[in-house]
Amino acid sequence: SLEVSHLTKRYGGRAVVHDVSFRVDDGELVALLGPSGSGKSTILRVIAGLAGAESGRVRVDEQDVTALPPRARDLGFVFQNYALFEHLTVADNVEFALRVRKVDRATRQRRRDELLELVGLGGSARKYPGQLSGGQRQRTALARALAHQPRLLLLDEPFGALDARIRQDLRQGLREVLKRIGTTAVFVTHDQEEAFSVADRIMVLHRGRLLEQGRPQQLYRAPQTEFVASFVGRAN
Ligand code: ATP
Ligand code: MG
Repeated sequence: SLEVSHLTKRYGGRAVVHDVSFRVDDGELVALLGPSGSGKSTILRVIAGLAGAESGRVRVDEQDVTALPPRARDLGFVFQNYALFEHLTVADNVEFALRVRKVDRATRQRRRDELLELVGLGGSARKYPGQLSGGQRQRTALARALAHQPRLLLLDEPFGALDARIRQDLRQGLREVLKRIGTTAVFVTHDQEEAFSVADRIMVLHRGRLLEQGRPQQLYRAPQTEFVASFVGRAN
């Protein structure tokens, strides 16, 4: 589980995240949805430990990780331009986090094979990233992020650079993979369709504030604010 409480983050005196609190239960897939500049990536970076915050706490599985460096938080990341290691095969990219953690060879190989199968890249283990399509690269990044069985997966616009059809396929693929493993995940997007088709629950951000949260159907049927009503597409 993840618990973010009273998070405030300033850049140059300006608060870009204002007193944001939310909870993500075990196995839940939650979308942080909001327009460009609303603070989505900033929140993810603070959860990851890649940025500090003026105030607020972050708890993962009830452990306070606010003061821990990123590596000690035991999380997985998939970012839009989170580069693969181009000189390593797909298999070695996926195994990377396990080697760093000195996981034994047999376990590494088993976990790698399971994950590559799960993301549909069973036949591409020996390829190099340069030989993959954009969608295959992102699926490799997903397998790599899951390899060490993180207690929380953070995804920042992971399909942002891909064309519409590939995005569509990957959305469903992502959901299936995460549900099968039971990984708790937070997914950032500015695309309301993406949030609605993938997430169990959606948090809507506007100018650094968490405006509303709820299940997709709830937000769609009964938005509580004008902003959410228009942003989730009722005005379209
Ligand atoms: P996008 O959808 O465009 O990725 P976002 O919701 O992820 O947007 P953030 O990247 O979190 O938005 O940025 C929120 C605000 O904080 C923006 O106004 C941005 O300019 C500002 N900001 C983000 N990072 C920094 C930084 N390192 N230094 C100064 N300002 C920053
Ligand atoms: Mg962003």
